[in-house]
Amino acid sequence: MNQSRVALAAIATLIPLAMIATVYTGRPALQDRQEQEKITVVASFYPLYEFASRVVGDRAEVSSLVPAGVEPHDWEPTAEDVSRGRTADVLVINGAGFERWADDMQAKVVANTSEGIEFNYREEKEADDDEQGHEDAGGGGVNPHIWLDPMLAKHQIDKIRDVMASSDPANTDYYNQNADRFTAELDSLDAFIRSELADCNKSDFIAFHDAFTHFSERYGLRQHSIHGVSPEGEILPQTIQQIIELANGFGINVIYSEDLIDSRLADTIANEIPNGKVLVLSPIEGIGNDEQAAGIRYIDKMKQNIANLKEGLECS
Ligand SMILES: [Zn+2]
Repeated sequence: MNQSRVALAAIATLIPLAMIATVYTGRPALQDRQEQEKITVVASFYPLYEFASRVVGDRAEVSSLVPAGVEPHDWEPTAEDVSRGRTADVLVINGAGFERWADDMQAKVVANTSEGIEFNYREEKEADDDEQGHEDAGGGGVNPHIWLDPMLAKHQIDKIRDVMASSDPANTDYYNQNADRFTAELDSLDAFIRSELADCNKSDFIAFHDAFTHFSERYGLRQHSIHGVSPEGEILPQTIQQIIELANGFGINVIYSEDLIDSRLADTIANEIPNGKVLVLSPIEGIGNDEQAAGIRYIDKMKQNIANLKEGLECS
């Protein structure tokens, strides 16, 4: 075989290989395949989205069903949302009756982050006759706002970690490390809150809705509220009158509003009390896109709340 025939034979061998190579470029490169094989996690609303993101890091794709900055209490999923929840590998929910639509979603795996929390009370029915009655249907009479108590938030992190470890055992150590890191931040937050609220003149405050039940229990405060367990729904004039009388009785001059709702009702009440003013006490039920883009997260919002609470409670 002379040189040119060797070359031809080599080309003849190379051509099919090149063709095969071309065919194979139709498949994703290794890195892309790994991207595609990432486990998908869908969280119901903001705090669950952040908690899940912190635990899974870069090993899973996390998205939130309730869009950024949207109040989640009365949110209902669209057909597209239902399909997202159903096809996700893991659906992360708060539970305790918050996501009344969750069962209908028929998700593959549900991380119910309130599962295992002992609620040793039933939500009290308050004199105000607003929307809270129907909320009890799904929650079994417990208050769902567990994420506002950093110790209960730790329980939520543990739940997400455990479900992720069983859904994706190869990354168990990674999920454990991430969960430990966030748990340590929650412990620091707890210490911060205890120290900030250590010396206050008041322990009663008026929240916009009953979001701070577990928080108040944890830190020895007494929550009163304008609305019941949800921030939406009609408020009767006599309820407004009761709140004004309550504020006067306790010498309260700060009325708390929220970041995702219209503050006019809080303004109206504050205008009726001596030196009345409105401050925000965020239930952290959503963080708007602008704040998220500015890097504001759960712990930042908690610290903003503590600063505003200190003013209302007259802490030194
Ligand atoms: Zn709420």
